[in-house]
Amino acid sequence: MLIVQKYGGSSVADAERVFHVAKQIIAAKEAGNDMIVVLSAQGKTTDDLIAKAKEINPNASRREMDMLLSTGEQQSVALMAMAINALGGRAISLNAAQVGIETTNAYSDARIRKIHSERIVNELERGNIVLVTGFQGINMLGDVTTLGRGGSDTSAVALAAALRADICEIYTDVEGVYTADPRIVKDARKLDEISYDEMLELASLGAKVLHCRSVEVAKKYNVKLVVRSSMTDAKGTEVKEDCKMERMLVSGVAADKNVSRISIMGIKDEPGKAFEIFDLMAKEKVSVDIILQSTGHDGRQDISFTIGKDDLDVALKSLEENKERLTAREIAHDDDVAKLSIVGAGMASNPGVAAMFFEAMYDAGVNIQMISTSEIKITLLVAEKDIEEAMIAVHDKFKLASVNMRKA
Ligand code: ASP
Ligand code: MG
Repeated sequence: MLIVQKYGGSSVADAERVFHVAKQIIAAKEAGNDMIVVLSAQGKTTDDLIAKAKEINPNASRREMDMLLSTGEQQSVALMAMAINALGGRAISLNAAQVGIETTNAYSDARIRKIHSERIVNELERGNIVLVTGFQGINMLGDVTTLGRGGSDTSAVALAAALRADICEIYTDVEGVYTADPRIVKDARKLDEISYDEMLELASLGAKVLHCRSVEVAKKYNVKLVVRSSMTDAKGTEVKEDCKMERMLVSGVAADKNVSRISIMGIKDEPGKAFEIFDLMAKEKVSVDIILQSTGHDGRQDISFTIGKDDLDVALKSLEENKERLTAREIAHDDDVAKLSIVGAGMASNPGVAAMFFEAMYDAGVNIQMISTSEIKITLLVAEKDIEEAMIAVHDKFKLASVNMRKA
C-alpha cells in the first residue's frame, strides 16, 4: 500500500515523541508499505515564531511571515529524518520547493494548484521513507507560501490525492472526531465514521480537528481519510463519502467563539441597501456569515450579520464612514456572542430537528439571537457566556435522539 501519514505539532513536540513516531513510521514501512509522511511544526513553534515576528514588526508583510513560519515544518522533517536514520531506517526530508508543491500567489492563505510527483516517486523507488513539510508551498515567483493555520492537514490530503495513496492517516492528540468537544461535554463520544459533508460543516463551524480545506480536497478526490491518535492504538474516525452504518440524526455539535455581530438599524426600506452594505464588506475582504433582515416598519428596516472577531474593527470603520449613504440611524455591535451548530446528514429527511434544538435551548434558559440553516446543519447565535451550557444541553438532547430516532 501507499500510505500518507500526517503528524500534528503535539505528536512531534519533543525528542521522545519524535522517536515514538519514527518507530511507528518504520514499522509501517517494514510491514511492506510505501510511506509518505507530512509533518507540522513541533509543539507551539508556529505560535512562537509569530510572537517573535511581532516583537520585531507587528505589521510584517505576509511574504516575510511565510518565509519565517515555513521554517517550523522544515525543522520537523529534518529532525524526523535524523531520528529514523538513527533507528536504522532510511528516510529523506523534502520541503515544498524540492517536491514541487505549487500554490496560488496569496501569501499566508495560498491554495495548492499542483503537486509534482516525480521526486517523491523516485525517492520511494529507492526505498526511502519520504518526509514532506506540511503547511507550505511555492508560488509562481518561486517564493514560499503557507496554506493558513492548520494547513498541514491539507498538504497531506493533497499529496494523497496527487500520488493516489491508498489511505491518508491524520495523527493528532485526540482519538478521532467527537460528537462535541470532549473538554466541554464530558460524555462526548468518538464517532467511528462521518461523511465528508458532515465533517466539512463541523470543520468550518469551529471543530478544530481537521483543516477545512483538507476535507474539501478529500471529498473532491475521494481520498480515504482516517483521523486517529498518535499516542494510543484506538481505531480513530473514518471520513468518507457515505456512512450507511451510522446515519445519525445529529452527528456533531460545534461551537465557535470567534464571532461578533453587527446590527445596522433604521435603514431606508428600498432596493440596493443590502447590496451596498455587503459590497462594503466584500471590499474590505470581510467574510459575512449569518445575515438577518427584519421586516420593515415605517419605511425603515434593520439588517444584522455576523463576522469574525478579527474583522470587527475594519467592518465598523467602513460602515461608519458610509453611515449616511446607507441611510442608517444606528450601527451597533456585540462581541460577546458565539455560534452553536449541530450537523447531521440525517437532518435533511427528519422534520423536527430544529424544534428539538430550540427546545434544548429553552430548557437551558438560553436566548437565541439569530438562526441559520442548511440541509445538514442548524446554527444559532447565542451569548458567549451561555455557549458551554448550551453545548452540553443540545448534546444531551440529541444523544437521546441518536438512540431513539436513528434512521433505519
Ligand atoms: N504549523 C502550522 C500551524 O500551526 C500548520 C499546521 O500545524 O498544520 O498552523
Ligand atoms: Mg491541526
